[in-house]
Amino acid sequence: MDQQSSTSQNESLPGEEEDSFLLPLDTEAAEIARLQPNSTNSQIENPTAEEDDERIAKIQFHCYACDMREMVHYYGREPPFALGIEFREDTYVMRDPFQAPPPRWQSKPEFFISLGVHCSICSQVVCKDPACSYYYTQTYCLPCGSKELKSWPPEAQMRLRKQLEAANKKREKPQ
Ligand SMILES: [Zn+2]
Ligand SMILES: [Zn+2]
Repeated sequence: MDQQSSTSQNESLPGEEEDSFLLPLDTEAAEIARLQPNSTNSQIENPTAEEDDERIAKIQFHCYACDMREMVHYYGREPPFALGIEFREDTYVMRDPFQAPPPRWQSKPEFFISLGVHCSICSQVVCKDPACSYYYTQTYCLPCGSKELKSWPPEAQMRLRKQLEAANKKREKPQ
């Protein structure tokens, strides 16, 4: 920090005739860049590869309640492939697996499946199955929902109670 004078002071090199020979090594940064091996180039990602990746599902979705696992294409509120759709919560979204991959410039929405979200209380991932999650103003996993429901209006409580009952029956049913 104290002594950074040495590099910048000798700008007035008497080498105008020897331009072709002089390298622009005025700054330390330039020198470092020159000294580094070419290997850094290989780390730069190929932009065309990125475009292709957009159509590959690479986000892992895993419902902690029913153990469903899927690879999905998108997590968030506004999937680029579902134009005009905005979810109220960050959502795991999968492109319709039976639809051919659309060209990137297409302007009509495609079919999609929203698989699930994070529980608004415990933030574990749950799917949309009524045995796994409940939606009232936001998504709850059933255990969290059953703790929260006392503060809800009666209709919302009733709906969840019914859903919990059905979920319990489903769970007890031997298969
Ligand atoms: Zn589930
Ligand atoms: Zn929860």
